Amino acid sequence: MYDIIIIGGGAAGLTAGLYAGRGGLKALIIEKMFVGGQAATTYEVDNYPGFSERISGPDLMMKMEAHAKKFGTEIVYEDVIEVDVEGIKKTVKTNKNTYQAKALILAMGANPKELGLEKERKFRGAGVSYCATCDGAFYRDKVVAVVGGGDTAVEDALFLSRFCPKVYLIHRRDSLRAVKVLQDAAFANDKIEFIWNTTIEKILGEENVEGITIKNVKTNEVKDLKVDGLFIAIGVVPNSDLVKGKVETNEAGYIITDENMQTNKFGVFAAGDIREKILRQIVTAAADGAIATYAAERYINENRW
Ligand code: NAP
Repeated sequence: MYDIIIIGGGAAGLTAGLYAGRGGLKALIIEKMFVGGQAATTYEVDNYPGFSERISGPDLMMKMEAHAKKFGTEIVYEDVIEVDVEGIKKTVKTNKNTYQAKALILAMGANPKELGLEKERKFRGAGVSYCATCDGAFYRDKVVAVVGGGDTAVEDALFLSRFCPKVYLIHRRDSLRAVKVLQDAAFANDKIEFIWNTTIEKILGEENVEGITIKNVKTNEVKDLKVDGLFIAIGVVPNSDLVKGKVETNEAGYIITDENMQTNKFGVFAAGDIREKILRQIVTAAADGAIATYAAERYINENRW
């Protein structure tokens, strides 16, 4: 019997684990693939406090993992298939084991959103990518397109411009959503060409991406663009399927909590990108994780376990 089970080993989960271990609680982090979450696929982080010289996403997350383990929190790599959030004991079934805890922290994060185009899934890994940091190096000297107008799309375009002679940044509107510092860097980069008011209609190619068909939504002009890679950066969807209908979520599937990370089920907390909130960053995920563990500890003590 654990005090706290944390599902997900990104910034929120690892920080929750750090606080739990340091607080003397018996805690388990269950992670499906690799710890670090989305932050581990980020090339450079320059807005995490204390790292003014920039740190790579994987390096920062390895430090967080080591920090959580230093205080005794266990990490297992298993796929959670079922969660029972009812009752005083919370049960988590994985592909290998069944675990129980007094409190549960849901920190499964979010995954990149798909455009929903034909061939998008077929060409994933064959020209379609959702992670410029992971795949960018495969596109050295190639022409690529990034779709989206947020921080991720602009960061991806900037990153890809290190390898690629030409990066199209295709956005459905005529202004970016990304923060100004990123916009300024992208506008000053002569390898990045902006294609405004444009959507992607089709992915072209037989075995891999050879081009895309794009449409100007103002003029309705449709044309083909030759590209070797398409990087999709149009936001994220929460990984909340596991608890769908079990804890309260909003229409988009983000888990609704109060300011103490408490969901609508007693003893069940949520932290990080999976939660409905205004700002999804590594620092806010970490803060959520700390609060969730503190609130879970109070819950455990108040219930006199
Ligand atoms: P985002 O901020 O939600 O932006 C998504 C972008 O994709 C928007 O420009 C949106 O267009 C566009 N879009 C959405 N659906 C689309 C569709 N079906 N077709 C075409 N375009 C579509 O997502 P994000 O950039 O991944 O960022 C997610 C969160 O992570 C944000 O909170 C962001 O600040 C944070 N983040 C932070 C950093 C950093 O601090 N360095 C880096 C990366 C991400 P509209 O603008 O028209 O809605």
